[in-house]
Amino acid sequence: MKYKCVIVGAGPAGMNAALYLKRAGIEVIVIEKDAPGGEMLKTSDIENYLGFNKIDGGELALKMSQQIKSLGVDIVKDEVIKVSKQDKFEIETKKDVYLADYVIVATGRTPRKLHLLGEDELLNRGISYCAVCDGGFYRGEDVAIVGGGDSALTEALYLSDLCNKVYVLVRKDLRANEILKARIKEKDNIIVLKNVQVEKLGYEDKLSHIILSNGERLSIKGLFVAIGGEVRLDFLKDLNLECINGYIKTDDRMESSIKGLYAVGDVRFKDFYQIITAASDGAIAALSIREDV
Ligand SMILES: Cc1cc2nc3c(=O)[nH]c(=O)nc-3n(C[C@H](O)[C@H](O)[C@H](O)COP(=O)(O)OP(=O)(O)OC[C@H]3O[C@@H](n4cnc5c(N)ncnc54)[C@H](O)[C@@H]3O)c2cc1C
Repeated sequence: MKYKCVIVGAGPAGMNAALYLKRAGIEVIVIEKDAPGGEMLKTSDIENYLGFNKIDGGELALKMSQQIKSLGVDIVKDEVIKVSKQDKFEIETKKDVYLADYVIVATGRTPRKLHLLGEDELLNRGISYCAVCDGGFYRGEDVAIVGGGDSALTEALYLSDLCNKVYVLVRKDLRANEILKARIKEKDNIIVLKNVQVEKLGYEDKLSHIILSNGERLSIKGLFVAIGGEVRLDFLKDLNLECINGYIKTDDRMESSIKGLYAVGDVRFKDFYQIITAASDGAIAALSIREDV
């Protein structure tokens, strides 16, 4: 099967790329291994996507997929297992092989977990993997954030403007840049606890406290996990793509180090990982391809 462009992944990044390509009259197909929506499907309340005061993630995902399907875009349920390039790109899935001039990789990332008992069931009820997304639900409360890198400290600063106390829990020491460390020091309501790990989550219906490896008990309403994300790029290994910290490196047009292969959304190296930034990446890649065709 031949297409001008194959999009891998139907999260907001892939779906918005499809919307722009289809409207530009470019033949496109989206391949999605699960249900369209990506990480949005794991979110109950989204309060920072323009146009909606508050919307359930599943509902937003459905609206997006209905919109692109109504334009005639096919979202095929299949998993891409290999992409290679000769004259054209060859996209091998579990069921088929596709040929395309352009590929947009929109496969996202999975937040790294603590692997503690109760972690999965407490998602949206005390456990969060995104302070910018969920911080507002913990306004005025005591919370903790796990992680000592740049993104953990950026999230801690964000939370410190909303929450009462913010504990930063680090396994050894802070690894973030000096500017961030200095800004953390200036905040009266951020308390850094070094050489600790979370041993246990205390909860009934919602998170109420955590037990640390030093035996300390912290009463908190929210635990933010900021220990990085897992980006799976095994299906691209034949291409020798340039990456930064495991994420695909792109230019401002979203093109990777391989001509014709674009990366959008959470799979690419960037500063801000949000639905709206993912959708924006998708639009930029599609418009760049349109210019190139
Ligand atoms: C719990 C949680 C809550 C969040 N809350 C918010 C929020 O309130 N507001 C906000 O702006 N952001 C929020 N985010 C972040 C936001 O969801 C992501 O930034 C956004 O979904 C990234 O979009 P994406 O399209 O790049 O990737 P994803 O949404 O991850 O979509 C990637 C898609 O690719 C598919 N895929 C992967 N590999 C393959 C393959 N080999 N073949 C075929 N398909 C494949 C996956 O199944 C998935 O559907 C939240 C994230 C999490 C985890």
